[in-house]
Amino acid sequence: MEQTIEGLIKKIESYRKEADLDMIRLAYDFAKAAHEGQFRKSGEPYIIHPLATAHILADMRIDPIIITAALLHDVPEDTDVTIEEVEENFGSEIAGLVRGITKLGKLKYRGVERYLENLRKMFVAMAEDVRVMIIKFADRIHNLQTLHALPAEKRYRIALESLEIYAPIAHRLGMGEMKGELEDLSFRYIYPKEFQRIKKMRDEKLKEKERYFEQMCEKAAAELKKANIPVLSIQGRNKRLYSFYQKLLRKDNQSTSIYDLVAIRIIVPTLADCYAALGILHKVWKPLKGRIKDYISQAKPNGYQSLHTTVFGDGGEILEFQIRTQEMHEEAEFGVAAHWHYDERGRHMPKQEIKWAQELAEIQKDILTKLADLDEIKVDFLQSRIFVFTPQGDVIDLPEGSSPVDFAYHIHTEIGDKCSGAMVNEKYVSLNTELQNGDVVEIIMDKNRKAPNQEWLDFVKTHTAKSHIKAAKNKSLTDWIKSVLPKK
Ligand code: MN
Repeated sequence: MEQTIEGLIKKIESYRKEADLDMIRLAYDFAKAAHEGQFRKSGEPYIIHPLATAHILADMRIDPIIITAALLHDVPEDTDVTIEEVEENFGSEIAGLVRGITKLGKLKYRGVERYLENLRKMFVAMAEDVRVMIIKFADRIHNLQTLHALPAEKRYRIALESLEIYAPIAHRLGMGEMKGELEDLSFRYIYPKEFQRIKKMRDEKLKEKERYFEQMCEKAAAELKKANIPVLSIQGRNKRLYSFYQKLLRKDNQSTSIYDLVAIRIIVPTLADCYAALGILHKVWKPLKGRIKDYISQAKPNGYQSLHTTVFGDGGEILEFQIRTQEMHEEAEFGVAAHWHYDERGRHMPKQEIKWAQELAEIQKDILTKLADLDEIKVDFLQSRIFVFTPQGDVIDLPEGSSPVDFAYHIHTEIGDKCSGAMVNEKYVSLNTELQNGDVVEIIMDKNRKAPNQEWLDFVKTHTAKSHIKAAKNKSLTDWIKSVLPKK
């Protein structure tokens, strides 16, 4: 179906009646005039690209301000119209978003350096205004959807960059829907043979089990109704191809069950309904041991909340249920983007502080220019995170595999430097102990201690800890930074 400005307006109206629709129309006309005479590689008029980007965002019920900026996102970079003119017509908020996108677009380098430059720019953009990234992801999703029009080499580069940089960042921001799209769209170009194989595998299994899944959905709905648990929606949901492929790799291609491919998702009104529904399902179908996951009482580090359970369904077929509220659902699909959602009561969600992005922006200022640090940075900010607690109950967000020393440096440099022991969950542990999600960590300090132990470098994970330990060795941090920066 062809995407039009009228269709876009209709979509936005459906979730936000009081949106400034004239402004959106104006942005479309403005962009269309600016891009007049420009064409995509596919031969289509250029305006279809910003329009498609806006549609992707409207499908996610994103704030119309962001959608207006999405319509204008390529104007200053690709046309004679300047950012000042955008500002004169649309105000400073929208111009600010467009400026953020434009900054991201200008990459000077090639190869590994381009990779770094890209990362660095994105982190700065995120720290400044995470809404820029929301537009950038939608922009990239449309580019991937139309990648076939580009030459093979360019296709590969764009897909790889999306898989290695964009998708992990979307994941860190809790934007499951965008992460999944970015991965599956790139997967096709990076590993074409595997993509086709996995897709075929899934499609065949699904076809075979389609009727069974419908019956299970119907039965679950009926049982919940009988127990007076209101259900907003219940449906089978295909799992993503790329994440399924990753799972296959981890399991050495060993047999995969249908529950790796499809899950039944149940949306209920309240948190209490989630647990009540879980109880009913378990009464009807026996759960598999060790496969009940309560991500509500203990959310995943990126904010994901849901109850998961895998049960022996009718006929002994194993299948997974996911239970959550509408709010949890939107958070899981859209992450930080959910905070700019129109909410039913008409209030705006507050702008969330994204501490790690700000930390990263700080770090990159100093040392991201040094290639050798790339791995550390990736470990710190792109890999899975854990949440641990101080004895006072404050939450500390650390990369997976972190030790009490990482924790100590995260709290304060001096606590790290004078750290002499640690207690985890009220038990003494060695300083190289790997912390687990939910641990309560207390650091024991030795006031007389002068400097950290250089051997800690063998196990610490965070950039903060590493840099402070190394800095102590070199007497001063500034000396060290100077020493690692490339000579001009
Ligand atoms: Mn674009």
